[in-house]
Amino acid sequence: MAEIMVLDSKTIDQIAAGEVVERPSSVVKELVENACDAGATAVTVEIKDGGTSFIRVTDNGSGIETAQIRKAFLRHATSKIRGVEDLSRIHSLGFRGEALSSICAVSMVELITRTKDSLVGVRYCIEGEREADFSEIGAPEGTTILVRDLFYNTPARKKFLKTPATEGGYIADLMEHMALSRPDISFTFQINRQTRFSTSGSGDLKEVIYRIYGREIAKEIFPFEASDNGFSVKGFLGSPQLVRPNRNFEFFFVNNRYIKSQVLSKGLESGYQAYLMQHKFPMAYLHLQIDTEQVDVNVHPSKMEVRFSDNRRVFDFLEEQVQKALHDREMIPQVVLDD
Ligand code: ADP
Ligand code: MG
Repeated sequence: MAEIMVLDSKTIDQIAAGEVVERPSSVVKELVENACDAGATAVTVEIKDGGTSFIRVTDNGSGIETAQIRKAFLRHATSKIRGVEDLSRIHSLGFRGEALSSICAVSMVELITRTKDSLVGVRYCIEGEREADFSEIGAPEGTTILVRDLFYNTPARKKFLKTPATEGGYIADLMEHMALSRPDISFTFQINRQTRFSTSGSGDLKEVIYRIYGREIAKEIFPFEASDNGFSVKGFLGSPQLVRPNRNFEFFFVNNRYIKSQVLSKGLESGYQAYLMQHKFPMAYLHLQIDTEQVDVNVHPSKMEVRFSDNRRVFDFLEEQVQKALHDREMIPQVVLDD
């Protein structure tokens, strides 16, 4: 057997980076989440070649103070939590302090940032995991991060990427989820200099749905709102006529974070049960607000899954309220139609 060795820090960084940065869309996700956490009201995302050669995220948020810039790129460095006790009350999208360090371990990064109180901005570049520039530069308030040549130093990862069109498609899906998760932020998304969609940031979820999915879908959904001790849900449900063959049109946002959840899907579908044929799925865009103590977001590095402290309560709440909403709209149960 070979001797057991503790890996050097560069190797450790690359392994850790692989967990956060699986593909171009993971980079976009992390950067856009940071922009949201920085209080931005406008976020622009530009990609080229499916994000493999070029990803640029520009926000008008808080910016990063000059003295903090280098620290932001260290592993496990975050301004969002202080200790383990904060994990039970997370209000930000990020908190693990792993994104920037992971991204710069596998790509060329340029950051330009300026805070409100600073007269000039700073340009900070990391290339080949080394600092290549740290200098003053004129810049608008906020932060721009440019990521080039993703996985230039990890050929194994690069080889497993799909075509630029497919990788770009993953990023487009992600951008749609981000825009739906925060109707109060204006998002602009460009692929190869062409604008795919932009949202106004007016706060109107229906407008975002219209901008992304078009008139046909926007006219078949109706508003839905309910609350019950500690839980509240607000958004839109699709009319049972507008069924889908899969769950791709079930969108859940828990405390403004897009997530996938068996519990929520099952609760929703159960609420629709009388109105849908078997193997058909409803359309739903639902924002849930749940006490941060009742939901754990620290399940997986991608933070796409959450754990509820009481699954049964979440399920029952959604099932019951959806059932009631459909009933109140006098939707016709499918069982009657089947006769
Ligand atoms: P996390 O988001 O988990 O804190 P990141 O590695 O994504 O970790 O970012 C590290 C830190 O850098 C953040 O905690 C934040 O203070 C700062 N930061 C990153 N991106 C931005 C941004 N767009 N605007 C302002 N600050 C940012
Ligand atoms: Mg982050």
